[in-house]
Amino acid sequence: MITETVLPSERGIRRAAEIIKRGDVVAFPTETVYGLGANALDEAAVKKIFVAKGRPADNPLIVHISSLDMMETVAADIPAEAYKLAERFWAGPLTVVLKKSSSVPSVTSGGLDTVGIRFPSHPAAKRLIELSGVPIAAPSANLSGSPSPTTFKRVYEDMNGRVPMIINGGSCEFGVESTVVSLNNGCARILRPGAVTKEMLEQVIKNVTVDPGVLSELPEGAKVRSPGMKYKHYAPKAKVIIVAGSLEAYREYVRRHAKERDFCLLFDKSERIPGIHYLTYGSTAKEQAHRLFEALRNLDAKGAETVYARCPDASGMGLAVYNRILRSAGFNIVEAENGE
Ligand code: AMP
Ligand code: MG
Repeated sequence: MITETVLPSERGIRRAAEIIKRGDVVAFPTETVYGLGANALDEAAVKKIFVAKGRPADNPLIVHISSLDMMETVAADIPAEAYKLAERFWAGPLTVVLKKSSSVPSVTSGGLDTVGIRFPSHPAAKRLIELSGVPIAAPSANLSGSPSPTTFKRVYEDMNGRVPMIINGGSCEFGVESTVVSLNNGCARILRPGAVTKEMLEQVIKNVTVDPGVLSELPEGAKVRSPGMKYKHYAPKAKVIIVAGSLEAYREYVRRHAKERDFCLLFDKSERIPGIHYLTYGSTAKEQAHRLFEALRNLDAKGAETVYARCPDASGMGLAVYNRILRSAGFNIVEAENGE
């Protein structure tokens, strides 16, 4: 398949919308990461997304909308809290899981009777949905299992030859996928943390909990509320080990274990260890979120074998960073102690 690239101009987006309308797939930028979109209501079109990504069929897609009217066509029995969240956080990086309407085919929802809905704020994403005239189902535009693409270059690497069109929108603002919440009896549960934090949600909904699957590996057979959490995710080819503890303890641990092709993944270059390769991904949670996936892909490009990552602070937006790095490390976290 030939993959065309267009810029997010009105003309470019019009051409992309034609592709969506004819039942095909377009990779497009959003404020979180790049998405791989098709008409959410067209079963055959949605199946093409799963093929392009190599995604397991039971991993649901998020349905992207550009108006509340659209939400009402894809969801049923919408609770008042959904409207409150919509008013406060849409357009933006929040996905709300609601009961699905019969218009949404089961392939879109991964066989569930619920559907994750998001109203993106990125102008190109919004315009693409408007011009297509249909809700767009879109997972992240990476090959299944790889870190999500946050730049055009990475989408192109993964999707060239697999989809008819990519919209080149440069780099994505947030860099981690949307916050996913489910609603139950007036309470919200965070299934996946993102740029809309627990503290922000609490300004609108009194009782907000974090699903146990966000912070730890679920025991075998446990009920998975967010199907994506059971899959290996965001994983580079390199083996990632998170080394928690003070900077001094981190350095000591790495000095003792690092081999020639190993790398440190640091917040800042002041933490580097002479003689050991390193990459940085930022000192604030916002910067870390923006740069983490690109750093993981760069580590692969540099041929890193084992990566010793500093452990990010998991408060506020840091929870999203911690959740992603924990998964990219396959939950491999060691506690380094001074003089160990
Ligand atoms: P991605 O499209 O790669 O950002 O992944 C979307 C993730 O959102 C899925 O892997 C699920 O974990 C979550 N999700 C989407 N729809 C639902 C749903 N109906 N119920 C629970 N989680 C969902
Ligand atoms: Mg994804």
